[in-house]
Amino acid sequence: MLRINAKTKICMIIGDPVEHSLSPAMHNRAYEVLGIDDEFVFIGARVKIEDVKDVVRAVKVMGIRGLTCTIPHKVEIMKYLDKKYIDPVALKIGAVNTIVNDNGVLKGFNTDWQGVLAPLEKEIDLEGKSVAILGAGGVARAMAYAVSFSGAFFTVFNRTLEKAEDLSRDFGGQARSYKDIACVQDMDIILNATPLGMAPRENETPLPKKYISKKQIVFDAIYAPYETRLLLEAKQQGAKVMHGAEMLLYQGIAQFELYTGRKAPESIMREVLEKNVIASEAKQSSG
Ligand code: NAP
Repeated sequence: MLRINAKTKICMIIGDPVEHSLSPAMHNRAYEVLGIDDEFVFIGARVKIEDVKDVVRAVKVMGIRGLTCTIPHKVEIMKYLDKKYIDPVALKIGAVNTIVNDNGVLKGFNTDWQGVLAPLEKEIDLEGKSVAILGAGGVARAMAYAVSFSGAFFTVFNRTLEKAEDLSRDFGGQARSYKDIACVQDMDIILNATPLGMAPRENETPLPKKYISKKQIVFDAIYAPYETRLLLEAKQQGAKVMHGAEMLLYQGIAQFELYTGRKAPESIMREVLEKNVIASEAKQSSG
């Protein structure tokens, strides 16, 4: 039976599009398992970028507890928040994906970097390791923050070299153009933050297979498909692989804890994600 009532706090995700988002399923299942599905409910709304300003006002006047922002709103929303309430890490990364409403004060955070760091730290001590970041957009910036925070050294490879240079300047790494991609073979960890390999470009990869070896960890931010061409080829080369679903999970865990003030049920949230990502893939390949 639904336990939602007039005191239930609303959390929600906005994006354009948003219908594919797994955040509502992941958070609502966690509320249910913890028995707090009368305290919190998580919904989604497709919002045009020109309407983001109105959403910020709605969050305030309606007392919405948590606002998750996905593409293309993570940068835009910052314009409508009071800078003094934006977490310094989110300011440095240049994107807010999480807003907590504390009695009318809207506090902005970025949890994408935790989505990168938490699964990596389970596999490896990052201190002193060399990391290749492919791409220089929003996710690459979160990755650069995460790895430099942990004492690793990174080199960013990007199609547009100036963007790689800006990123490396901001986070203390190196910038290289794709023509130097062969030097990736000497690095410990490879992180993909480009859309190469993402549906509908599943046949593409940002890195030739020959530059991957069994001593490396390869982490792809893409979560649909679950197993990208990059990850399949990395497996064939004997490398350890990490899926984009892990990033989605850990950024969501950090959000859950900010919104509810409770420890997130990790295994339950993982189960929801894996079931949904893998199920939607099976549906696509059969139809
Ligand atoms: P973004 O800001 O648009 O950045 C994309 C980057 O990829 C840019 O550096 C761009 O290079 C590069 N790129 C785009 N097309 C390329 C191509 N054909 N060849 C080479 N480089 C190309 O995107 P983002 O928000 O960082 O997202 C990056 C990826 O992360 C996406 O696949 C997204 O689905 C995934 N993602 C995953 C999660 C998760 O939780 N797992 C969360 C958010 C995003 P230029 O600078 O030259 O344009």
